[in-house]
Amino acid sequence: MSNFSDLGLRDPILRAIKEGGYEQMTPIQSRAIPNIMEGKDLIGVAQTGTGKTAAFSLPLIQYLLKGEGKRKAKTARSLILAPTRELAIQISDNVRDYSKYLHLRSTIVFGGASEKPQIKAMAPGVDILIATPGRLLDLMSQGHIKLNEVEFLVLDEADRMLDMGFIRDIKKIIKELPEKRQTVLLSATMPKSVTTLANTILINPVRVEVAPAATTAEKVEQHVMMVPKSRKRDLLGHVLKDDAIKRVLIFTRTKHGANRVSEFLEKQGITSAAIHGNKSQNARQRALADFRDGAIRALVATDVAARGIDVDGVTHVINFELPNEPDSYVHRIGRTARAGATGISYSFCDHEERAYLKDIEKNIRQSVPVFEEHPYHEEGMAAAPAGSSKDGKNGGRPNRNSRNGKPRNDKSGNKSRRGNSQKPSGRSKSAAGKPNPGNPSQGKPSQGKPNNSSGNNAGNKSGSRPSNGPGNRPNNSKSNRSRNRPGNKSSNAA
Ligand code: AMP
Repeated sequence: MSNFSDLGLRDPILRAIKEGGYEQMTPIQSRAIPNIMEGKDLIGVAQTGTGKTAAFSLPLIQYLLKGEGKRKAKTARSLILAPTRELAIQISDNVRDYSKYLHLRSTIVFGGASEKPQIKAMAPGVDILIATPGRLLDLMSQGHIKLNEVEFLVLDEADRMLDMGFIRDIKKIIKELPEKRQTVLLSATMPKSVTTLANTILINPVRVEVAPAATTAEKVEQHVMMVPKSRKRDLLGHVLKDDAIKRVLIFTRTKHGANRVSEFLEKQGITSAAIHGNKSQNARQRALADFRDGAIRALVATDVAARGIDVDGVTHVINFELPNEPDSYVHRIGRTARAGATGISYSFCDHEERAYLKDIEKNIRQSVPVFEEHPYHEEGMAAAPAGSSKDGKNGGRPNRNSRNGKPRNDKSGNKSRRGNSQKPSGRSKSAAGKPNPGNPSQGKPSQGKPNNSSGNNAGNKSGSRPSNGPGNRPNNSKSNRSRNRPGNKSSNAA
């Protein structure tokens, strides 16, 4: 089943999604929607960009139509929990689009904005409440929101919610919900913590899984650049001379780091903005809008702030700092390979980050080719302790193209024009097959070029990863259904 019209959704919903340009269902939609419409609890393992929002929103909207007008003051008939304001706003926008021909009331509750309009919107009761956990609990404790009428719960980006330390808040919220309800949990990854949570809040869930880590990583042409920490900004300035890098998302590990990188870029005449938790809601929204419209070329973000941001057309992702969690790497680079597009990522790796790189490569089950031909490569390798070649890249050998650790003349960069960057071994450093950020004027974009995923598999260390990846596994619902769920939800959730 791949057409929305086969689902039995009501006409006003079909009309709205058709107007939104949706023609065919995405894999998560075709697997999740029929199950949710049958009233089943569901775990969806899917990342942003897969169409997961519609996968839970459409059946939710259809469900709510059954009891239109059943709203009671200060209550919500359904609750969608999201980890960040940005994601909450995005979900809310989507829900409004999908239900624009219906009379459902939805509202959004999140921190960093005035409480008053949120309290006012909740006063008559709503059909759909989209909320971040902190503000929701605040308004609940003040008596402005009651959850005793919730019939349908969605937990979006559960893994990120737990990463952000929301587990206690979530448990408090769940305690207030009626036991009799339908629950859908979405998560990009399924670490043990999420499975444990799922076991306590879902009943015999169906599990659907799409685009797991390795599959997403395959679509992105990835490169790592060895560079000393102190030279990362120089390298960034150098890389961004390549005007094939049209819309770039740059990741830092800290908020402070994001600000500093953005300030540096501005000084270099590169339009940019930083987005992170310390920025006001308005500033974040403005930065996002500017990035979407192309008013700024670079958006510098922390992992948390960037999660769930829906921006198409990101040509490149630069990991200014490598994430210490391998999953975050996949989320980051996945921002440039949305909706079937391919993209390019560059990861700046200093000496201390080599261990992170190793973990990342293990996680994505492929090695990330080292791009050497930039002015700081030799310095980056020199930063390794003598004889250190633990990343196996080039064992600290000097870069042929730079001398004495000094930036080399960019002219030589042109020699390294990439053919196919996915080298057979994934480890070798042949001059062919490289991107050319080092030679912006001549090294023209590899951007947009489809990445050959079989080439990627060839680069796989083990060489044995099945080409369809674990993501295309059939629905794993059987084992879940047979799970003996503990009787009392609230006591389990406590
Ligand atoms: P999501 O994963 O929910 O963040 O969705 C990613 C993007 O895909 C959003 O811009 C959606 O509007 C869009 N989208 C979702 N489902 C479909 C579909 N079936 N056809 C086309 N676009 C879609």
